[in-house]
Amino acid sequence: MNNSASPSDFIREIIDADIKKGTYAHRVATRFPPEPNGYLHIGHAKSICLNFGIAAQYGGTCNLRLDDTDPSGESREYVESIIRDVKWLGFDWDERLYFSSDYYDRLYQYAVELIKSGNAYVCDLNADEIREYRGTLTTPGKNSPYRDRSVDENLRLFERMKAGEFADGSRVLRAKIDMASPNVVMRDPVIYRIKKIDHYRTKNKWCIYPMYDFAHCLSDYIEGITHSICTLEFENNRPLYEWFLEKLVKRPHPQQIEFARLNLSYTVMSKRRLMELIEKGIVSGWDDPRMPTLSGMRRRGFTPESIRNFCEIIGVSKNDSLIDMSLLENCIRDDLNEKAPRVMAVLHPLRVVIDNYPEGVVEEFDCPYHPKNPAMGFRKVVFSRELFIERDDFIEVPPKKFLRLSVGREVRLRCGYFIKCVGVVKDPKTGEVTEIHCTYDPETRNGFAPDGRKVGATIHWVSASHSVPAEVILYERLFTVPDPLAAEGDFIDYINPRSREVVTSCRVEESVTAASSPDRFQFERLGYFILDRDVSAKERPVFHRTVTLRDSWTKIAAKTP
Ligand code: ATP
Ligand code: MG
Repeated sequence: MNNSASPSDFIREIIDADIKKGTYAHRVATRFPPEPNGYLHIGHAKSICLNFGIAAQYGGTCNLRLDDTDPSGESREYVESIIRDVKWLGFDWDERLYFSSDYYDRLYQYAVELIKSGNAYVCDLNADEIREYRGTLTTPGKNSPYRDRSVDENLRLFERMKAGEFADGSRVLRAKIDMASPNVVMRDPVIYRIKKIDHYRTKNKWCIYPMYDFAHCLSDYIEGITHSICTLEFENNRPLYEWFLEKLVKRPHPQQIEFARLNLSYTVMSKRRLMELIEKGIVSGWDDPRMPTLSGMRRRGFTPESIRNFCEIIGVSKNDSLIDMSLLENCIRDDLNEKAPRVMAVLHPLRVVIDNYPEGVVEEFDCPYHPKNPAMGFRKVVFSRELFIERDDFIEVPPKKFLRLSVGREVRLRCGYFIKCVGVVKDPKTGEVTEIHCTYDPETRNGFAPDGRKVGATIHWVSASHSVPAEVILYERLFTVPDPLAAEGDFIDYINPRSREVVTSCRVEESVTAASSPDRFQFERLGYFILDRDVSAKERPVFHRTVTLRDSWTKIAAKTP
C-alpha cells in the first residue's frame, strides 16, 4: 500500500493503478540489476534508491540481481564491490541475491521452445552481414537467407552451437519477428551468440550466451518481478521485452517502465568512460575520491544519507537532463553541517609568536564541537606562546578590504584571545615573512573585549607544539566544463589539471588523533574533511576534503565568537 507521506511520480502512479486493478495480486516486486563489469556510480544510486525505495514504500520486495550474461569484462571483484556499495547506501535484499548466470539452463530451454514454436532460427550471417540486412531507420531490412530453416535443423544447429562446434561469430540464434518493422530492435534480433570465453561463475560450461533483451525479461519473470524499472535508452526495446514474454510465459508479465538516467555536470557517468580514466592513469582507480563512483564518493567523505537525499530531491522523470553538481555538493554540506564536529587545522602554517605570553605556560580552552548542538560536547584546545595561523590570513601591506592580520591590526582567535600583530621576521634572502610577532589581550579570553572594541575577523589557529602534522588532499571538479561529452573533441581533453592538490604542510589540533575520534570533521573555514583510515600512518594522518564550505565563514564569524 502506498504510504501517502512518500513521494509520487509517474512510476508510482503506474504501480498505484496496478494495485487498484489487482494486476499482480497487489504485489510489488522490483529489482536492481547491475552488470558486474565495473563499480557502481551515482547514476546507479538513483536506480537503487528508486527500486529499493518503491519496494519499501509499498511493502514489497527488491532483489539484487547481478546481470552477468556477458562473460567479457565481468568479474567477482565487481560483484563484491556492488554488494558492498548497495549495502553501504543502506539497502537490504535479505536473501534475494540473484545471478542471471544461474538461469542459463532455463534460458536455454526457453530458446529451444522459441525454436520449436517457429519463433527463432539459427542464422549463419556474420555480424557485418546482419547489420547490412537489418536496413536503416528509413529503409526496411531484408530477410536472412537462413530464416526459413526447418525446426529440426534449427534445433540441431543450436545444440551444436552449445556443444562448441562452431567458431565465435559464425552463427547466432535470432528471433523471427519482422525485418520490415519500423522499430529496428524488432528486426529479427539476436538471442544467443557464441563466445568461447570463460565466465567468472560458470567457467567453461557455456560457450553460447544470451543477449540482454532475451535474458532480462525472462530473469524478471523467473524472479516474479512486477515492475522492471530501467533507463530511457531501453524504450525501443520494450516491445521486444513484451514479445519474448508473450511467446514464452503465462501472464501476468512483468512490465518494463523507463525513466531518465542521471547525468551530472562536471563528471562522466558510464562505466566505460570511468574505466578509460583509470586505464589512462588520470585517476588512481575506481575509488579515487574524484570519481562519481559510490566507492570514490565514500572515500571522499560522502555519507549514504546525503546520496539518498540527493536521489530523492532529483526525483524521476521521462526527460533527460543534466543535474548540477552543486546540488549534490549541497546535499553533503547539509548533512555534514549537522553531523561533523568542528575542529581547527592550518593548511599553510605561518608561525606566530605571542611576545607577552609567558614561555612554558599552556592553557586549555573548552571549544564546542558544534555551534548549534551542545550535545556534541567540547574538546580541549591548547593555547601557548607559539601558534600557527593560515599564511594567507596575514598580509604585510593589506589591500583595502582585507580585514584579517597585518602589522598593527587586531583579530580574534577562534575560541581564544584577541591578538595584535606587532612585527614580522623575514627571510633575509627572499624577503618572505617567515614569522610574525603579536601581543595578546588577557582580558579577551571569552572572545570579547571588555571595552567593547571590535575586530575585523576571527581566524583559526593551532598551537605550534600541540598540533600534529597531517596531509590534506584538496579536490576540485574532475572536468573543466559542465558537459565534457557534449564538448568538441575528446572528453579527456577537458580534465581539470587542478582536480587534486596534495598539501603536506598541514597541522591539525591534537583532538582529531584520539582513538575515539570520528572520521569526519569540519576544519573551520576550510571545509569538510574525512580521515582516510586506509592510508593514514600513525605519525601522519591523511584527510580528504569532501567539500568546501558554502560561504566564506570569515565575515559571519567576525560577529559571533
Ligand atoms: P553504464 O552506462 O554506466 O555502464 P549501465 O546501464 O550499463 O551503466 P548496468 O550495470 O547495466 O549499467 O546498470 C544497472 C542499472 O542501473 C540499470 O537498471 C540501469 O538502467 C541503471 N543505471 C545505470 N546508469 C544509470 C544512470 N546514470 N542513472 C540512472 N540509472 C542508471
Ligand atoms: Mg550496461
